[in-house]
Amino acid sequence: MSHATPAQVTFSSCKVKELRRDATLPAKFERQLAGYPLREMFDGKQVAIKMHVGNDIGFTTIHPIFVRMLVKAVKEAGGHPFITDGSGSRPNAVVRGYTEEVLGAPFIEAAGVKNTYSYEREVNYESMKTIDLCGNIVDADAMIVLSHGKGHGHCGFGGAIKNLAMGCVARDTRGKIHRLQGEEFTWEPEKCTRCHTCVENCPSSGALYFDENDNLKWFDHNCRYCRHCDLACPAHAIHLSTEGLVHFQNGMALVTQKILETFEPGRVLFVNVLMNITPYCDCWGFSTPSLVPDIGIVCATDVVAVEQASLDLIRAENYIEGSLPDPMKLGEGAHLFEKIHGKDPYLQVACAEKIGLGAREYALNCVE
Ligand code: SF4
Ligand code: SF4
Repeated sequence: MSHATPAQVTFSSCKVKELRRDATLPAKFERQLAGYPLREMFDGKQVAIKMHVGNDIGFTTIHPIFVRMLVKAVKEAGGHPFITDGSGSRPNAVVRGYTEEVLGAPFIEAAGVKNTYSYEREVNYESMKTIDLCGNIVDADAMIVLSHGKGHGHCGFGGAIKNLAMGCVARDTRGKIHRLQGEEFTWEPEKCTRCHTCVENCPSSGALYFDENDNLKWFDHNCRYCRHCDLACPAHAIHLSTEGLVHFQNGMALVTQKILETFEPGRVLFVNVLMNITPYCDCWGFSTPSLVPDIGIVCATDVVAVEQASLDLIRAENYIEGSLPDPMKLGEGAHLFEKIHGKDPYLQVACAEKIGLGAREYALNCVE
């Protein structure tokens, strides 16, 4: 991982050195964005601002004020921004204030209102032969990958790579990426108390249910391999094996590559917001306390560097005792997310670097 020139990463800390407007995070973010050649990147271009807008009553997604600032910066650079996330996400966007009235740009569902607008690409990796990229992402000329950095049960870390690989593809493709993990479902009826927590936490209708004999049934076809059932079960009666984690992470990197390939070089900016850093993905539909103090905003034009820097910054912060929901406990691992999810969060970054998506070696330039 030695590169002659390290990737340049900029960082606005949310720490306020003086009690004045200019010293706060939004003001620094404005200056941070001004440091990028936005006119060169976005002038006259349709710019997709890809977010994960969250779900249900979750409240720890990116604050609309930062999205609005991003929209303003793109417009001032001559670009035509739109906010986007997966199909069916519009109601969820409204709940958290991601509307045109608030943000100044329209919300457009990534694969159309019926989740059918996509472009097929060949990948030929293990069982994942082809993937379907969301049509409105591919049709855009440029992109800002605006990601909320947090933990993720499946990936260890949910940042830009996760936002791209899981959020810019059709639902079937998400399933294909998850299946690379080669997971198998087992249920131990003698341990099960029939509390139904697993079924209640399952986001996919028909994937998990109790039959007429009170036996838990798993329907692979509908399963999104999110592991919510496994993680939520208080009796540890459900197990999904995690063999093939490297295949899964390689798959995420390859899908990320296919999405980024649809843009000309120099047309993508990555913005990772490291605030409200929770253990789980925003798709859970509820929020738990922050694991570490708020950190700030990391930007780069290199997806590998922005992820590496984000993970390094999270790693350096102090875990807030009591922030994990019961009965979760910190386990072993080099990084906080590994202690929580048992998965090395740097693995996806290493996979992405290996296929040439960027550099893990970076220089951190602090915005004052
Ligand atoms: S969450 Fe666990 S204990 Fe509860 S019903 Fe599901 S398998 Fe059984
Ligand atoms: S892995 Fe996710 S989608 Fe599959 S059964 Fe469990 S909760 Fe449902």
